Amino acid sequence: MIADSLASVKNQIAEVAKNVGRDLNSIRLIVVSKQVPSEKIIEAYQAGAKCFGENKIQEAISKIDQVRLQDADWHFIGHLQKNKVKYLDSQFSLIHSVDSLTLAKKISEHSVSQGRVQSILLQVNISGEEVKFGMEPSELKEQLPTFGQLQGVKIRGLMTIPPQDPDPENSRKYFSGLRQLRDTCQALKVQGVELNELSMGMTSDYKVAIEEGATLVRVGTAIFGKRPA
Ligand SMILES: *Cc1c(COP(=O)(O)O)cnc(C)c1O
Repeated sequence: MIADSLASVKNQIAEVAKNVGRDLNSIRLIVVSKQVPSEKIIEAYQAGAKCFGENKIQEAISKIDQVRLQDADWHFIGHLQKNKVKYLDSQFSLIHSVDSLTLAKKISEHSVSQGRVQSILLQVNISGEEVKFGMEPSELKEQLPTFGQLQGVKIRGLMTIPPQDPDPENSRKYFSGLRQLRDTCQALKVQGVELNELSMGMTSDYKVAIEEGATLVRVGTAIFGKRPA
C-alpha cells in the first residue's frame, strides 16, 4: 500500500533526524512520481504526500494537469534539455538539476520573459565520474558570481547524485563532500546566491544523506515500488 510505504519512509526520516539531532522541519521529502500513473499519485497525495518530483518535462506537465492537486508542490529533478526550457511556466517550485551556466541563463531569460523568478538548485558532479551530469566543484565556485547575477533565477542550493551503489555507506563521502562544498561556497558570500538547500539521497541512501545534512530527499521506489525498467 502506498499509504503504508509513505508512512514508513516518513517514520524513518523522523527517526534519523532524531538520532542526529536535526529538526525534522529542516528535511523535506520529495515523492518521486516519475513513470507513476496519476491514480497512484492521487493515492499518495491523499495519504499526505505534498511534494512530488518528476524527471521528464512533458510527462510532468500532463500529469500535473491531470491530477490537479490543491496545495501540492512539484519539483523537476531530471536532466533538463535546453530546447525544453520553453515548456517551463510556474509549474515547478524548484528545479533541482541545473548543471551548467548556459542552462541557467536560458531558464533565467525565459522566466524574465514570463515575469517571474524560478528557484533552482545547481547539480554538482561531486564524485568526479565522467558519466554523470553536473558541474565540477571548481567550475561551480568560479561561476557562482555569474549565477548570482541572473535576474530570472534564484539559486537555493546544491544537488548531487552519487554513483549507484548497493551499499549506502559508500554514498556518505559524496554527501559530506557536497555539504562541505556548500559551506565553502556559502563562506564566499556571493551576491544573489543562497545555498540553504542540499538535495541528496534516494531510496537506497536517503538515511545517510539526512545524517550528512540533506534538506531535500528524493524518494520514489520506497514509496511506489519498483518502476518498470
Ligand atoms: C528516479 C530518481 C530518484 C528516485 O529514485 P528511487 O531510487 O526510486 O528513490 C531520485 N532522484 C532522481 C534525480 C531521480 O531521477
